[in-house]
Amino acid sequence: MAGGERWATELICSRTGVPAPLDHPSFLSPAGAPWLVEYDLDVEKGRRLLAALPNRPWTLWRYRELLPIADFDGRVDLGEGGTPLVRMARLDELFPGAPFDGVKVWLKDESLNPTGSFKARGLSLAVNRARELGAPGLQLASAGNAALALTAYAAAAGLPTRVALPEDTPKTVFDRCRAHGAEVLSSPGTLVEAGKLLEQGAEGYWGISTLREPYRVEGKKTMGLELAEQFGWDLPDWIVYPLGGGTGIVGMHKAFDELERLGLIGPKRPKLVIVQMAGCAPIVRAFERGEPSAAAWENPATEVWGLRVPKAIGDFLVLRAVRASGGRALAIQESRIAELIARLARKEGVLIGPEGAAVLAGVEDLAREGAFRPGERVVGFQTGHPANYI
Ligand SMILES: *Cc1c(COP(=O)(O)O)cnc(C)c1O
Repeated sequence: MAGGERWATELICSRTGVPAPLDHPSFLSPAGAPWLVEYDLDVEKGRRLLAALPNRPWTLWRYRELLPIADFDGRVDLGEGGTPLVRMARLDELFPGAPFDGVKVWLKDESLNPTGSFKARGLSLAVNRARELGAPGLQLASAGNAALALTAYAAAAGLPTRVALPEDTPKTVFDRCRAHGAEVLSSPGTLVEAGKLLEQGAEGYWGISTLREPYRVEGKKTMGLELAEQFGWDLPDWIVYPLGGGTGIVGMHKAFDELERLGLIGPKRPKLVIVQMAGCAPIVRAFERGEPSAAAWENPATEVWGLRVPKAIGDFLVLRAVRASGGRALAIQESRIAELIARLARKEGVLIGPEGAAVLAGVEDLAREGAFRPGERVVGFQTGHPANYI
């Protein structure tokens, strides 16, 4: 059994490789880049983890040695992670005429997480760490789902919160954040403008926006660990992911690297495909131009608000991970979303959110252009619960 161990050792700057101590509050590195948690891993540890897993509950905490928590037994835990893979069994009817040729497609249904999105994974880890490290309160700007997750976990941790939302965020988000006791601010524009509201009056609250602290990536990393385990340690050929700030891509790339060092998978990686909406596609544009980082998108226009992120601080890490995997970056037209949501409900019995529909549009595009080889395995991420959009 591997119980009780913590394999995390220190923080490493994702741009320069400079280290920093783990158990100390850390936001951005001196180079202005995200910190990433480093681990001491070997094949023997991999064997111990593998032996311990069958006796552990199906939540993200089953990978406890690969999470940087100090007080495991005292953690806040709302049952995050452990989401199912749902096989898309009627591809011919979903996408008439698209040549799937024995290709298998699953949706990883992240909407079944607490608070209805995969933001729960990252904010679970970030809030737990912030409490361990002595945060007086927490705040972030959000398109909606991050605020729902932060306010729930902070309530459970007994920490006060402030969130800033674009004023056109669905009403349910405002109501539910207030139900968790948060102070809720709002402004016109995107989460970039909303974030400016947080610059004043914070009384030392910690900002835990995407990639501005090291632990949300660690929580999102567990999607990669789960996928590997769900596929019997033989990773799928493609991952299609709806990209906003990029935590999930950076996290899964990191997860696969750690699993290889543990000897649980080999060097082969899924091709990472990111999708953004045509009205706000900064990373897709940078990918197509061969650029190492992405300029801010002017006048972002999409109602798929999980993807309305005009500038991402981890852009260079996302671009690096997608290129290293031999992956792709696709921009999706807004007009396809509503129809795809309706078709999924009718043909597969699954109600998906708009980001999940963008992913399926990407899967369709890849199939129509003949990107998949016969029999390949494709996983798309369905990230937000439709109830979060009303
Ligand atoms: C935040 C969010 C995304 C984008 O996730 P990142 O890992 O930040 O790129 C996608 N879908 C939904 C529903 C989201 O809330």
